[in-house]
Amino acid sequence: MSYQVDEKGYYGQFGGAFIPEMLYPNVEELRNSYLKIMQSPEFQTEFQDLLQNYVGRPTPLYFAKRLSEKYGAKIYLKREDLCHTGAHKINNTLGQILLAKKLGKKRIIAETGAGQHGAATATACALMGLECIVYMGEIDIERQAPNVARMKMLGATVVPAISGSKTLKDATNEAIRDWINNPENTYYIIGSVVGPHPYPDLVAKFQSVISDEIQNQLLEKEGRKNPDLVIACVGGGSNAAGAFYHFLDEKEVKLVAVEAAGKGIHSGETAATSVLGKVGIIHGSKTLLMQTEDGQITEPYSISAGLDYPGIGPMHAHLCESKRAEFESVTDDEAMQAGMELIQLEGIIPAIESAHAFAALKKIQLNAEDVVVVNLSGRGDKDLATYINYFHI
Ligand SMILES: *Cc1c(COP(=O)(O)O)cnc(C)c1O
Repeated sequence: MSYQVDEKGYYGQFGGAFIPEMLYPNVEELRNSYLKIMQSPEFQTEFQDLLQNYVGRPTPLYFAKRLSEKYGAKIYLKREDLCHTGAHKINNTLGQILLAKKLGKKRIIAETGAGQHGAATATACALMGLECIVYMGEIDIERQAPNVARMKMLGATVVPAISGSKTLKDATNEAIRDWINNPENTYYIIGSVVGPHPYPDLVAKFQSVISDEIQNQLLEKEGRKNPDLVIACVGGGSNAAGAFYHFLDEKEVKLVAVEAAGKGIHSGETAATSVLGKVGIIHGSKTLLMQTEDGQITEPYSISAGLDYPGIGPMHAHLCESKRAEFESVTDDEAMQAGMELIQLEGIIPAIESAHAFAALKKIQLNAEDVVVVNLSGRGDKDLATYINYFHI
């Protein structure tokens, strides 16, 4: 069995492209051209140059000595927090904007929940001098003022989504509507391994630079390419997809995916899709999502805005169902404690999304000889107010 996407766009029973007929031409254009463009030497030269000189790659693989002593294993941190703009998301937005340019598109749209993907997209558009429209739920616009300001400074137009619950899924609907209305000149940049095929695959491929670097760096530091364990948090699943990518078919590497349990899996305020999710369609793909008895998407909750998503991408739904990856759920409290522990042991303030991955260290069996890689997906500067409130600092 392969854990990669198949020719039809599926991971096991998950994936595909469940889209309105009006979108067929756009998605078809992308499906027919993405691999050819991405594999061309011209594209690769430009992309690699940006990753190196703009993003600051390769990001370090840092041996966390004090954390390792505490947990009794050799723990390395993959420092995506050191990427330009502070998280892994920029790897994907730069890849997609180059794809858009090669397809001759002049107008970029995106949806955003917490504003992180919107800001990464606005950054790429400023860099390339392309028009940028970001759809964002009206409630999220109020909650995420600094990211809204960031996007505006970068030249993006932020359009409020005012229907439904006025959050991410409503912003997604608006973005899809825009794309249907502007099929010729517009490219839709999706921010995680979600959406209709080929998006999950192309986002995973752009993020796969993470595990590619891990292999080279481990070879240098440990004399072997594969770790025993890779741990990453999962919202939609893009940083995890990137950290797992080159290990998917390496059975001896254990993969641990960490979801946000919010106030507890059964509290009604959670984002633990792997436990509570049922098969359904969200954002144009068949996957696991949290829904009511009659199929309405449940509003998710997590203290970390980036994990506050009611589904997981189809690759992860398959990794979960096939048990290739172990899924752990981490509550708000567990994540905040793990974040503070990392701050005080290693002098690194993680994004609260990433703190969830660290909390999993307490939940898994570790041996002294184990080489463990935790994907540190982003830095915590954006989360300072949450840390301050939580710890009454
Ligand atoms: C957006 C975000 C996530 C969650 O998104 P994935 O697609 O699951 O990676 C995790 N960490 C950080 C720092 C983020 O900004």
